[in-house]
Amino acid sequence: MVSDNTIAVLLVEDNPADVVLLMELLQESDAECWQVTSVKRLSAALEQLSKTGFDVILLDLSLPDSQGLDTIAQVQAAVPYLPIVVLTGLQDKTIARQAVAQGAQDYLVKAQLSVELLIKTVNYAIERTQILRRLQESENCFRGVFNQTFQFMSLLSSDGVVLDINQTTREVGGFQDEVVINTFIWEAPYWQSSEQSKRWLETAVLRAAQGETIQSELQSCTSDQIPLWLDFSIKPLKNSKGDINLLIAEGRDISKLKRAEAEIRRSLEKEQELSLMKNKFISMISHEFRSPMAIISSAIDLLEDNEISEDDKSKFYQKMRNCIDQTLQLIDEVLLFGRATGRVELEHSPLELEKYCSEIVETFQLTTGREHQIIYVCEGTSVQVGMDPFLLKQIIDNLLSNAIKYSPKSGMIRFTLSLQSNQAIFCIQDWGIGIPQQDQAQLFTAFKRAGNVYKIQGTGLGLAIVKQCVDLLHGKIDVESQEGCGTTFTVTLPLSLAET
Ligand code: ATP
Ligand code: MG
Repeated sequence: MVSDNTIAVLLVEDNPADVVLLMELLQESDAECWQVTSVKRLSAALEQLSKTGFDVILLDLSLPDSQGLDTIAQVQAAVPYLPIVVLTGLQDKTIARQAVAQGAQDYLVKAQLSVELLIKTVNYAIERTQILRRLQESENCFRGVFNQTFQFMSLLSSDGVVLDINQTTREVGGFQDEVVINTFIWEAPYWQSSEQSKRWLETAVLRAAQGETIQSELQSCTSDQIPLWLDFSIKPLKNSKGDINLLIAEGRDISKLKRAEAEIRRSLEKEQELSLMKNKFISMISHEFRSPMAIISSAIDLLEDNEISEDDKSKFYQKMRNCIDQTLQLIDEVLLFGRATGRVELEHSPLELEKYCSEIVETFQLTTGREHQIIYVCEGTSVQVGMDPFLLKQIIDNLLSNAIKYSPKSGMIRFTLSLQSNQAIFCIQDWGIGIPQQDQAQLFTAFKRAGNVYKIQGTGLGLAIVKQCVDLLHGKIDVESQEGCGTTFTVTLPLSLAET
């Protein structure tokens, strides 16, 4: 409106008699003040519209430069929200109705005009357009929120059919309307990775349609099959009569949160496992120390008895010595394990591997006597390398002592050292009791012993120490074994030449 009471009208009519008639009718109205601009052609009308703001346009559809519905389309294109009232002759009612269907607010038959009808029609046209405009703005506002939110949102019918999805679902989820719209929500492609989510949705839709708001954490996936965790809820929407005719479904991506949760759970489990292992370690150690002490104590009791024979005396002394040796070995292994699991500074002493291993084998051969035969073979050229002798000795000692311990008397053990330009491969093979398949995965875990050791003594720390040492030297260890046939441990260590 130009001012409170003034209505600016653009009259587009090429018949001068009709123009006069309309002007006269408008002047007869007392309630409003009309400011009428009259033009004969559509081109002139479009020019006026580009310059001036009008409240309403009275538009004849048969103009010298435009005919029929196209006239409406051109005006709408120029000024989308201008109320249009079509002026028509008696015989043109059909086209006038089509004009209304196309967006004109109303039509007036020129031969049936009266002041009241003209004023009422124009005022209704203006009011309706204003209402439509407010509706459009509210729809735009809703669309903006619906589409711009970071949540995945969809509108559902009360029985769960997807009516609309928002931009986040299209862009982040990667789903196009045609694969989602008009399907039941539990059949939408983003739930296909989880039967549980699909089942939950079916019941949630039923409950939401009864007025409940339902929420749960659901597993979903994007169109690229990237798994997502969603905090998902379905809420009922009521129409003006209070009936639930729509459901709104929204999902917040909580995948990061879920990953962090899983990480915390894992470290907690690890912590519990460690604490369990610590407890087991302590009770194992106490048990291992207690048994030799108990033997020593009862041997002392027996030795205090004066009537004991010289033969028995020396037998008990021997038992006590064995117990002390066993305890000292256990102390060494526990210390070693602690040292290997803690951080150790690597030593890089110049070492000739061929000679070093040969000395270890000799010592072993001396202590095992003739019970086992160790065949030592070195392949490749021996050079001086930089190596931590202590860690290497732990590896070879443990592997050789296992090979001896788990082989029958007079069994053979083969130790092959292959020297290559940048690595050394230590291969220790025996033809002893072997390791059952199911025990092989846990061999390097402290205190894990295979099920077939029976009465063969051991604490289960040796291979855990070996693994720690191999890791510290940045190498790898493999085992091949068959129960009853024998075992081969292969250790590969990277080599660097000794600094001179
Ligand atoms: P210790 O701590 O005194 O060495 P251990 O020999 O029992 O005790 P590991 O050296 O850690 O412990 O070995 C773990 C387990 O692996 C053994 O108990 C045994 O079951 C199996 N094992 C290791 N080496 C061999 C082998 N050469 N032949 C058969 N079984 C083996
Ligand atoms: Mg061992």
